[in-house]
Amino acid sequence: MIIQLENTTSEAQIASIEAEIKALSYSPNLVTTQAGNYLVCIGKSELDPRKIGSIDGVKDIHRVSDDYKLVSAKWKVGHSTIDLGDDVKIGSGNFQIMAGPCSIENEEQIECTVQHLVDNNIKIMRGGVFKPRSSPYSFQGLGIDGLKIFYKHCRAAGIKIVTEVMEVDQIAKMHDYVDIYQVGARNSQNFNLLNELGKVDKTVMLKRGISGTLDELLHSAEYIFSSGNERIMLCERGIRSYEKAYRNTMDINAIAMLKERTHMPVVADPSHGIGIRKFVAPVALACIMAGADAVIMEVHETPQKAFSDGQQTLSHRQAQKTYQNIRSTREHFMGLT
Ligand code: PEP
Ligand code: MN
Repeated sequence: MIIQLENTTSEAQIASIEAEIKALSYSPNLVTTQAGNYLVCIGKSELDPRKIGSIDGVKDIHRVSDDYKLVSAKWKVGHSTIDLGDDVKIGSGNFQIMAGPCSIENEEQIECTVQHLVDNNIKIMRGGVFKPRSSPYSFQGLGIDGLKIFYKHCRAAGIKIVTEVMEVDQIAKMHDYVDIYQVGARNSQNFNLLNELGKVDKTVMLKRGISGTLDELLHSAEYIFSSGNERIMLCERGIRSYEKAYRNTMDINAIAMLKERTHMPVVADPSHGIGIRKFVAPVALACIMAGADAVIMEVHETPQKAFSDGQQTLSHRQAQKTYQNIRSTREHFMGLT
């Protein structure tokens, strides 16, 4: 059960609501976010919501049968919108493409990518400066100095940044230079990291674990929300299956199902989802048809020279065609722009 409190509810009122809840054999957990105050109440007994609904300081009360609560679609009317400012919005009918290299490599590459994004009216650039690599000998990223250069060029062009955070102590260092913190598949259940991201005032894009279930993904999102941050997007990036013909199995089903289970925007990452350049575009279109609120894609001026994930990266020319196809698919098949 979720009890939404009035913003004006005093501490004394909260304490008395909590006492009522406990008397009904429920345990209340107070959650305070940028947008509101909630009491997430866990318990099994039957109770009459009208009893609590009439207490002073209570705005609304919702029964949520799912194990995860605040991220569930069951208590919110409609879907949430992520507002990054400057009219860049995701969710609830607002769609964005995010594109850029797997890794930020140097200033020239950043400038070239920014120009490509501006030319194609794309408002969000991706690019890792902290890279989770399977081998310790592979390129590990340019770190915070690289992020500052990334930021300088994106800000000048009015482009937002999504980039991966791998450790708790990177959160504060990155804060002024990011718009969206990306939590990578390998950190999808790093609960320390998720709790700390609950304390920031920026959007978090949480990727599904390599072998994570949707329930696990939603529980991870619940960690962020219950720690105080409602600005969450979920990202389907393919899961490990028995099939070896491609890097991952893009779970298109997950996109449709997440849109039903949660109010948060759902992002599709077809680049990691299939891991093979020539199939990224068709898989991206399938994700659109399944209802994705955004697509994130790896693009590079010369993919064969990319420091990481070149095999799944589109050239700027290929990417341009794909953006057009994504936009026209939304328009023609779904009546959306
Ligand atoms: C990436 O976005 O480059 C990345 C490492 O993604 P994932 O965590 O999904 O593997
Ligand atoms: Mn990558």
